[in-house]
Amino acid sequence: MVTVLKVKAIKTIKRFFIYFLMILLLLMVGSSLTIITNNFSLVVMFTKRSWFWLVLISLSLSVIAFSWINFEEKQQRQEIGLLNNKLQKILAGQKAKHLLLAPTDRYYQLAHSINQIQSLQRDLAKSFVTQQRGYFSLIEYLTIGVMVLDQDQKIYLSNHAMSELMEREMNLPGEIYANELRNYDLSRLIEKTYQTKKEQHAEIKLDFNDKIVDSHIVFVPVSQHHFLVMVLLYDITELKEIEQMQLDFVSNVSHELKTPITAITGFSETLLNGAADDPTALKEFLRIIHQESQKLTALVEDILSLARISADAELKTDQIALFPYLQEIIQTFKPEIDKKQISIFNDVPPAFKVVVDYNKFRHVVNNLLQNAIKYNDPTGSVWLSSTQLSKSWEFKVRDNGWGIANDQRERIFERFYRIDTSRSRQTGGTGLGLSVVKEYVAALGGTIKVTSQVGVGSEFTVTLPLTQKRKQDSGVK
Ligand code: ADP
Repeated sequence: MVTVLKVKAIKTIKRFFIYFLMILLLLMVGSSLTIITNNFSLVVMFTKRSWFWLVLISLSLSVIAFSWINFEEKQQRQEIGLLNNKLQKILAGQKAKHLLLAPTDRYYQLAHSINQIQSLQRDLAKSFVTQQRGYFSLIEYLTIGVMVLDQDQKIYLSNHAMSELMEREMNLPGEIYANELRNYDLSRLIEKTYQTKKEQHAEIKLDFNDKIVDSHIVFVPVSQHHFLVMVLLYDITELKEIEQMQLDFVSNVSHELKTPITAITGFSETLLNGAADDPTALKEFLRIIHQESQKLTALVEDILSLARISADAELKTDQIALFPYLQEIIQTFKPEIDKKQISIFNDVPPAFKVVVDYNKFRHVVNNLLQNAIKYNDPTGSVWLSSTQLSKSWEFKVRDNGWGIANDQRERIFERFYRIDTSRSRQTGGTGLGLSVVKEYVAALGGTIKVTSQVGVGSEFTVTLPLTQKRKQDSGVK
């Protein structure tokens, strides 16, 4: 501190001495010129006295000049200090007041430019924050799991879907990802991206919740020496299940088609190879061929029904008078009813009307009525009834047939599921009837339930909403 002051003092003295010498010299030159123009002798003019005045005037002028210049410099330093201070604040991202200088000030233009830079920087910062917020909320609301990791394998950000998939909070900025991810395969895939600096992709099963995720680990170079790693997880569990169901369905269909086709081919070949000459064998084999081809037709019809539900999701509602509608369907079963001497009771009040998709509901009634006749003993009975509730209406098909055991009740709605008793096998069902019913009831916005007792009978109850979205209304049928 002392040395700084010393240096400053020496500098000031030096400057003052220079000013003094310069002014003295100027005065001397000025005086000399006056003397020469007035033809005076130099020796006469520069007497002791005049030297005294010359030095005194020089000294006074030097003091004035020195003080004035010093004052100017001090002011300049203060202004530069202010400008510098402001620039430092801008650099540090702090708030700084606008500099207000008079338009005559030498730094007015510079201060104005700095103010403009500050406004620009503020606008940029604002738009950056808005953009970042938008970007974060976009990531937050994405349905795929997103996690961004930094170069040090630490979590930078992670969204809600990621926490849901991992079944724990994953938005833990600054935490090492490997400590938070509890899945070995996924951690290895991410590790591979860090090592190879290349995108990785794999289907991974999360062992703690059995979910299957389509995992993309993306390497994102940010600058020459910086990069990020983005983990994108897409939950494909449902897709995989549907894929599996479709595969199962195709293999079941092929299997079910194979049985009647094999029988038809086998028996027709036997007949062609000479069995046709034996009248008893001919009649029996033709009966089997006819029975198998009927099975084949039923199977194809049920498969087509299932395909139609998905293809025709739109509801075409009609107001239908239920009693005549059911009578018409009952008539189509006349051959089976007569054959088994089944009594059908249509207990629906004649004036009862409902709003429902005419064709879709027909599939429901058809299959339930067919089962009630099919899984019944000769001379059995079937009752059809319907009730209106406050917001829905019920349709019931009750029979006093063979009944369904408790443990089978849920399974009968599965595709291709048949209760495997010797009696059931003889009926030649496809195992698709109730799954068709279930899908049509769902398409109509309703539910189906069953109560049953083996040897006593079964009751299927379909509950449908009173009002349905009416896309096309063709009036009373
Ligand atoms: P299917 O086309 O073979 O009749 P369903 O899906 O309609 O197949 O029925 C599945 C199984 O449920 C049938 O194998 C049958 O054993 C049983 N079932 C369905 N309805 C009745 C009923 N009303 N009474 C007794 N059993 C029934």
